[in-house]
Amino acid sequence: MPYMTYLAKLGELTLKKSNLKEFERRLVNNARLYLETVSAKVSLIAGRLYIETDEYGEKAVEFTLSRLIGITGWAKASVCEKDMESIKKAVLEQAVSAKQNGAETFKLETRRADKNFPLTSYEVNCRAAADIDGKLLKVNVHKPDVVINIEIRERCFVYADQKKGCRGLPVGSSGHGLLLLSGGLDSPVAGYRMIRRGMFVDSAYFHSYPYTSEEAQNKVEVLAEKIAQYGIVNHLHIIPFTEVQMKIKEKAPEEWTTLMLRVCMMKAVNIISGLIKAQCVITGESLGQVASQTIENMSVTEDACSIQLLRPLVGMDKEEIIEDANFIGTYETSILPYEDCCVLFSPRHPVLRGSVEDAKKIYDSLEVDDLIKKAVENRVIKKYHVRNIVEKNF
Ligand code: ATP
Ligand code: MG
Repeated sequence: MPYMTYLAKLGELTLKKSNLKEFERRLVNNARLYLETVSAKVSLIAGRLYIETDEYGEKAVEFTLSRLIGITGWAKASVCEKDMESIKKAVLEQAVSAKQNGAETFKLETRRADKNFPLTSYEVNCRAAADIDGKLLKVNVHKPDVVINIEIRERCFVYADQKKGCRGLPVGSSGHGLLLLSGGLDSPVAGYRMIRRGMFVDSAYFHSYPYTSEEAQNKVEVLAEKIAQYGIVNHLHIIPFTEVQMKIKEKAPEEWTTLMLRVCMMKAVNIISGLIKAQCVITGESLGQVASQTIENMSVTEDACSIQLLRPLVGMDKEEIIEDANFIGTYETSILPYEDCCVLFSPRHPVLRGSVEDAKKIYDSLEVDDLIKKAVENRVIKKYHVRNIVEKNF
């Protein structure tokens, strides 16, 4: 069975000193979780991650490397012996394939990690380029169509087509957060941003069936699975909030209904984060985006949250958020029209600068603590694991 080798460059974790090994171990372990059902071998040697597989595992490995948090780039490499003849042959193969893909100019870049190799990087470049320059492709060191890399390590790796990785820190190295996941554009991106900082992220979704549709919930389930493609595992807590919302509608001043809903969500999330031992709550709020996200109203939601509240998108604009949503593949799902809140409950003139004191008084007057507790008890939990996603798709 022919074997393919992929190699990936590690990202920010290489800046770690005393606990580098721990970060590396986690990265390798995470890659193995993606590939549990695939015939693939993951190893980490001298600061490079290697994945070997056969032709059946190729797609799954590429899926993994384009989502695995902690690597800056990856490539499919040809592996050859550490002698000039073998290197030249491997480089020529890459050049032929680049030519077939339309390249006209090239550049070689050699990294000589094995300092016992008898030639310098410059000499390797010159000798390997000699067979190609002017015959197949032309050397252009400033703006080449293709860069062919030669890495001389314990073996020799030759590769051309480098793909970008997600960067960040390996998932699991920065604690555990609970994401407030709605069907919109922002919250999936907020979850991804924290996952990229190494956090394990579970999610909570509040629905008000039948005022919100089943389609709205399906959309959130699809988003939760997309998040697990990066975060490895994601437990989605689906909380029935209709009774709480009815109570808000009945008792809160109309302009306060949206903000009170956010406060009640926070109270529920306080209970859930205690149960799952989450260390922070994450939302997709971005300063000034909508009425509930003015700095004053964000103080109101923050005050209702009993643990640390993280808002990774707070300083991002919509275009940047959309860019991320496209990158992680949530955009198409997020823009589907099913609303996660009902117009019936949306005030015509929402309060823009709520005060924490007023919010507390209004919240107390609702007397919803028991209803919130009951909603949390009645939640449904769905689990998404990247192992199953890979198994299902490849
Ligand atoms: P999004 O695009 O993430 O839905 P949004 O722009 O619609 O955000 P809001 O509706 O004000 O903004 O929601 C602010 C944040 O509150 C969301 O980013 C999300 O984290 C959380 N949130 C809102 N609605 C829900 C819900 N039904 N279930 C869980 N979290 C929610
Ligand atoms: Mg929303």
